[in-house]
Amino acid sequence: MPFLSWLIRKTTLPLYLRYRGELGQLSYLDEFASLEKLSSDDIRQVQLHAFYRVMEHAYQFCPYYREIFEDIGATPSDLKSIEDLQKFPILTKDLIKKNLSSILAKNIGPDRRLRSSTGGSTGQPLVFYRDSICRDKKFAMQLNFLRWCGFLPGDKHLYFWGASQDYDGLSTLKGRIVQKLATRRWFVNADSLKAGNFGKTIEMLSRLKPKIVSAYPNIIYAFAKEIERRKKHIEFDRIVVTAEQIFNHQRQKIEEVFNAEVFEQYGSREFGTIASECGYHDGLHYFAPGVILETATRDGMPSGNGLGSLLVTDLWNYAMPLIRYQVGDLVKLVSAPCECGCELPRIGAVAGRIVDAIIRPGGEMIAGQALISVIRRSEIDARMQIIQKAPDQFIINYVSDRKLSEDKLHFIRNGINSIMEQQVRINFNKVQEVERDKSGKFRYVKSDISSPLQNDFKSPRTH
Ligand SMILES: [Zn+2]
Repeated sequence: MPFLSWLIRKTTLPLYLRYRGELGQLSYLDEFASLEKLSSDDIRQVQLHAFYRVMEHAYQFCPYYREIFEDIGATPSDLKSIEDLQKFPILTKDLIKKNLSSILAKNIGPDRRLRSSTGGSTGQPLVFYRDSICRDKKFAMQLNFLRWCGFLPGDKHLYFWGASQDYDGLSTLKGRIVQKLATRRWFVNADSLKAGNFGKTIEMLSRLKPKIVSAYPNIIYAFAKEIERRKKHIEFDRIVVTAEQIFNHQRQKIEEVFNAEVFEQYGSREFGTIASECGYHDGLHYFAPGVILETATRDGMPSGNGLGSLLVTDLWNYAMPLIRYQVGDLVKLVSAPCECGCELPRIGAVAGRIVDAIIRPGGEMIAGQALISVIRRSEIDARMQIIQKAPDQFIINYVSDRKLSEDKLHFIRNGINSIMEQQVRINFNKVQEVERDKSGKFRYVKSDISSPLQNDFKSPRTH
């Protein structure tokens, strides 16, 4: 019902956001819609201006950054270009934990700081803060990317979601009224896939007809397979996948089962949605006026157009400036323009978590996905987990009732040798079960060689 969506967008939604003190997001949304139409030169100018502002602020009000400026013998007025960021050390989660109070800006008191934390699926959760303007801009950014997929505030939005802290209070009457008249968010979680709940979920979805679906890839993929198995039929127009890496076979299945166009988005708790595919589905545009992205090799050098560890500088967070923050993901940045005509720069590919990366004997990081695709192409009928024990040594744990075909094992050995660019030792090891990690996530690839996330990055600052 487009009229109802329009009405909500113009009336109850702004009232609700005003009540929550979050109305700013709608005006930022208008601002972003015009910024993204700028030429790449103008976008860089806006970015540079925001960069100078946040660096000046960090110098003035954050002792941690003031000390770094002193260490490198510079003041904000010495910064001439974005590339000058490379003089600054990489900010790791450990450094934040050790230096939290001196990273927080002194001119923004505790009552103006909004606390949040990461999920901690790959380690301890990290506590961080932002101010309310930053929060509103992040919300607006997310809405802006959803607009690319045909969604406007007030439209029905369905989530296939994992993180329960994101759910609205839908168990109360007030929560349900707000849902119907303002937020218009509906949630489906992994429990909805269980036998007893599945029928009800299908019924609810057939009635709901959401304008857009946002999903954790693993949850909607499991749902797609279940729909297929039970020979049910549900269509969605657009599906945004986010929060986890999506594999090609998952994307194909989701598109096919729901007859939907899939858009990949990329973000993190610390920064909100950072990037999104446009209608051309050739990489993910990021909103350069709000964020600077760099990629680094294992020794902290710029990785150019190759895969590297993503470093994010947030141009909006004044409560807790994050400068060259290492997210822990392996990505590739591209400089070529996109055919869609939008001149926002792009992430070419998100290749996964660094903890899932493997290390070539020369030290280069490779996305674990490359190995997973070898296993898939082998068409072997077994659940497998690949563990790198040394640069030239792997163990593959597998679960299978049958003896594995020698041809397929040979295919896997060859595939991995070719990715590693040398002969490596691979031992296949039959197990009863492949263990999940502490957070319950299944890791297809693990490397026991020290991760660059923990200690390998060179940094002038070690305390
Ligand atoms: Zn594009």
